Amino acid sequence: MKDVITLDAGDREKLLERFLRYVRIDTQSDEDSTSSPSTEKQKDLARLLVEELTGLGLDDASMDEWGYVTATVPGNLPVDHPAAGRVPTIGLIAHMDTYFATPGGEVKPQVIERYDGGDVSLPGAPGKSIGAADNPNLGRCIGETIVTSDGTTLLGADDKAGIAEIMTAVDWLVRHPELAHGPVRIAFTTDEEVGRGTEHFDVAAFGTDYAYTLDGSDLGEIEDETFCADSAVVTITGHDVHPGYAKGVMVNAVRVAAAIVNGLPEAFLPETTEKREPYLHPYALSGDVARVELKLLVRAFTVDELKERENALRQVVTSVQERFPEANIEVAVEESYRNMAYKIAEDAKVLDYALEATRRQGIEPRRQSIRGGTDGSRLSYMGLLTPNIWAGGQSFHSVQEWVCLDWMAKATETTIQLLVLWVEKSAA
Ligand SMILES: [Zn+2]
Repeated sequence: MKDVITLDAGDREKLLERFLRYVRIDTQSDEDSTSSPSTEKQKDLARLLVEELTGLGLDDASMDEWGYVTATVPGNLPVDHPAAGRVPTIGLIAHMDTYFATPGGEVKPQVIERYDGGDVSLPGAPGKSIGAADNPNLGRCIGETIVTSDGTTLLGADDKAGIAEIMTAVDWLVRHPELAHGPVRIAFTTDEEVGRGTEHFDVAAFGTDYAYTLDGSDLGEIEDETFCADSAVVTITGHDVHPGYAKGVMVNAVRVAAAIVNGLPEAFLPETTEKREPYLHPYALSGDVARVELKLLVRAFTVDELKERENALRQVVTSVQERFPEANIEVAVEESYRNMAYKIAEDAKVLDYALEATRRQGIEPRRQSIRGGTDGSRLSYMGLLTPNIWAGGQSFHSVQEWVCLDWMAKATETTIQLLVLWVEKSAA
């Protein structure tokens, strides 16, 4: 009953081959684009994945107009199985796009077998390396296969590691019909990196009760908490006149904005906070004497703390308003997303089973909170509870990105174990 799931050498080889195939396809998203997907090239990978899923025997594999790929692995429980008809449909999700601001085309992966523990040099970038001292996780991967880029581009383990792991899980399930599992739905999404990964995600059509993204980092990490996020826009209207004749007349919105930025408590900023601390981040400023727009991100793990930070901003604005009574200052706050832990707490088994499956594979799970959002946080609020499982990649979004094949294999094995667990827990 409680067998450990193990990929054999051939499975691992195929996992690596898939990963190397996917990272070579340029799928960078574009934050300035307004189309969906933000870049057409994401569909190049989407088309390949549809072909491969079809090749594995999933006859409903398809890509929609937004570039999302979906497919189904039908459940295979015999009718007399105690869990027959009771196992929920589980979704497995990963994103196809890669980060927009680091070179991401023409990725030339470097495969290092039996990594020896030293600094990893990058063939395309002489003098640049992945330092063992800066990457303590390298020390956990000695003797294993690791993959890097050549140092001129990102690698794209975020999130092609997740895609390769899910594809390998599908392949494994298809070749092991003796393993009883419920229906599994696969989704590969576009534009996660530009915050639009769920824009066209049709939760009802996907039709799963619970889902998991494979888009985390370290071995054993299960992420069930994200920030609560709002954005604030402060609009300052001043009064512009010829500066030679401005005495007593000009109201300079630029100076008002500077006073507001300066008034933000030093201890509230992203550059002074970490772990579970909230922040207030002035990130964009534009305008002139007559009008300035100041944009801020507000982030916290609880809604209460989020509101506290927003009140702090309003207090600063109020005191600056007293100094510049002629200026018109308006603050508009808009909700972006909420901590998915609030949603997951409503039906915690989706998280508990992931922790249990990890333990059953002999790995100590570590619950993590993300100082950011994920597709899963948005999906959880759209009605699909979606914790995040590690995918293995390290130093995301950089040319020093790397991944350990063993951690990838363990993500696949744990994902299969999770499907086994859902069957067990659903049995009458
Ligand atoms: Zn990602």
